[in-house]
Amino acid sequence: MSEAAKPAAGTSPRPAGRAGRNTELPEHLKDHKGVWVFIEHDRGQVHSVSWELMGQARILADRLQVPVSGVLLGGPADPLEKYAQEAHAFGADRCYLVRDPVLQGYRNEPFTKGLTDLVNAHRPEILLLGATTMGRDLAGSVATTLSTGLTADCTELNIDGRALAATRPTFGGSLLCTIMTLAYRPQMATVRPRVMPMPRRDATRTGDIVERPLGMVETDIVTKLLDFIPDADRNTVNLAYADIIVSGGKGLKNGDNFRLVWELARVLGAEVGATRAAVQAGWAEPERQVGQTGKTVRPKLYIAAGISGAIQHRVGMEAADVIVAINTDPNAPIFDFAHHGIVGNAMQVLPVLTQALRTHLDKRIRRIA
Ligand code: FAD
Repeated sequence: MSEAAKPAAGTSPRPAGRAGRNTELPEHLKDHKGVWVFIEHDRGQVHSVSWELMGQARILADRLQVPVSGVLLGGPADPLEKYAQEAHAFGADRCYLVRDPVLQGYRNEPFTKGLTDLVNAHRPEILLLGATTMGRDLAGSVATTLSTGLTADCTELNIDGRALAATRPTFGGSLLCTIMTLAYRPQMATVRPRVMPMPRRDATRTGDIVERPLGMVETDIVTKLLDFIPDADRNTVNLAYADIIVSGGKGLKNGDNFRLVWELARVLGAEVGATRAAVQAGWAEPERQVGQTGKTVRPKLYIAAGISGAIQHRVGMEAADVIVAINTDPNAPIFDFAHHGIVGNAMQVLPVLTQALRTHLDKRIRRIA
């Protein structure tokens, strides 16, 4: 070791890895209280993930015995008060509103300033955002601006002591890890749409509204919002919010057989889903992929044909109310968590199921007519 590289006399070398990190919450952060949800809205619509998070925030806040608050940032044309009323109906005790012309349409800089200023002024202990395009962009910059921890794409949120225990898949989805932000506040987490159930809406609930100014002018902002041009090929597949999904996997053998999935879906008025293996084989579009690196779904009925039930697929669909699996292998992992199993060849079972349901539904329609 050269002279220059040696530690100075009297100082001990810094421990490797995280061993030297502080895990105690400093005194000045102990007054952070309350659970917050960033309420995402765009072109007159609140994203449902915000209400799903509100339900989860209510559960966490009740455990901590603290209030739940919603955060709404927007421009003069956004009906923020109406969204705040909805937030109260879904469980918020209070809503923080920041309205400013520079917040008309999402841009990272003014939204980061709006949210970090609110956090610095009102000091919540937990801040939840949807793991959507907007939520992911905003959560990252808010967490770095506030120098706090962020756990992305959580599948479960709990309270351990007074800390948020945020669980998410790791090592390619083969393990789940629980992450806690012990020495920093707020504890931040993002959750994908449909991971949490939709809470009950109670129209009689009311709450406070606290308005704050933004204190930023257009010339402070590098990005300019010139126009909104909807993507002509934008994703029209509504898997995340579909009530019925028929999904196909590698067991269907080829793209022609995958059409059997479409035929059953058509009869049931269902969306079509697929495993990553089926998407990689080119039998379905990537936006139809269900699972860890695809969509999380929560339908009333999920029919899985020729799908093994690998953990990366399972995490995206196991919250379905009813799972029906069709697989030739009686030991396939999907039978461990499916509610109904059919051990059989999907190429024979799917057409029979489609025909039987078509006949049944036709009879019902005729009876109603
Ligand atoms: P296989 O595992 O090959 O299963 C085919 C099944 O079909 C078998 O169980 C077989 O018994 C059955 N079968 C065979 N013939 C028939 C027949 N004639 N009739 C009925 N059944 C039959 N996967 C996802 O789905 N979504 C993801 O988001 C995802 N993300 C991933 C992320 C990472 C980091 C990694 C490493 C993997 C990911 N995967 C994902 C891949 C995942 O690990 C599995 O490889 C994949 O889900 C398997 O797809 P499958 O069930 O279609 O195919």
